Amino acid sequence: MLTVEGLIKYFPVTGGVFKRKVADVHAVDGVSFVLEKGKTLGLVGESGCGKSTLGRTVAALYPPTKGRVFFDGEDLASFSEKDLKPYRRRIQMIFQDPFESLNSRHSIGEIIEEPLVIHKLGNGPSRRARVGELLDLVGLPRSSVNRFPHEFSGGQRQRIGIARAMAADPELLICDEPVSALDVSIQSQIMNLLLDLQEEMGLTTLFIAHDLAVVRHISDEVAVMYLGKIVEHTDADSIYKTPLHPYTQALISAIPVPDPTAARSRIILQGDVPSPIFPPSGCRFHTRCPHVMAICKEVEPSLCDQGDTHLVACHLYP
Ligand code: SF4
Repeated sequence: MLTVEGLIKYFPVTGGVFKRKVADVHAVDGVSFVLEKGKTLGLVGESGCGKSTLGRTVAALYPPTKGRVFFDGEDLASFSEKDLKPYRRRIQMIFQDPFESLNSRHSIGEIIEEPLVIHKLGNGPSRRARVGELLDLVGLPRSSVNRFPHEFSGGQRQRIGIARAMAADPELLICDEPVSALDVSIQSQIMNLLLDLQEEMGLTTLFIAHDLAVVRHISDEVAVMYLGKIVEHTDADSIYKTPLHPYTQALISAIPVPDPTAARSRIILQGDVPSPIFPPSGCRFHTRCPHVMAICKEVEPSLCDQGDTHLVACHLYP
């Protein structure tokens, strides 16, 4: 369904009186993956690693600097805005902040109906009927149609955002940290709703999160991003049971365990994520890696298969 090849997205940094370009933010720097129909890929990494930019570039909200995004065999990166229109219906996004992503001056009915109007689906009565079905689907009362976003809690607003994303019957759903702004108690309700919808509608999903624990139960595969690159990509079981990349190992060690007496050794990474404007030479993780070697500072490791399509980019695994 989705094939991403060598995707690069840079944002220019301007400076001086004439606002000339002086550098680039290397937000996404050569990312490739394949996502099969009906599967979910969890994309994980710290803030600023480029995962949200990757999601938006795949959704054709940002044009790529280089590389290709094939959706159903078509290279969306080469399409004009007019050619993209039918694909915008088939690819929908759910955003992190449900309040900012909903127009506060529109009623819930208008918000959920909007994609149907934009894509000219149905007529007035059929659209209103569809809005009612969507409210049922996300567990909100039909009486919500005439209310406004500020009258709802964060979890309810995210349900409204999900209903809107589902309105036009998408095939690919890109969820950009959909639960990170919510209370922990509400997070599991929204995750369960997304899981139910995936199963019922056979959706293909790219699920972006900064926390490996969040994507654990929803993903078939997990890709870990660091400073614009995927450093490890494998099936969800393997990433938790046998993480290979030192960065993934550190992320896994930070996941809370239910038993406080259970023995565990947390890997504390030193320093902050380096600037994506001047990423480190060689392996981008070398400034924080507890296993750094001389070669790591000079030569960039490529993403190699260590068996059973467990891909890792690290000189520890030749
Ligand atoms: Fe660490 Fe070197 Fe592997 Fe990078 S390539 S993760 S610096 S051991």
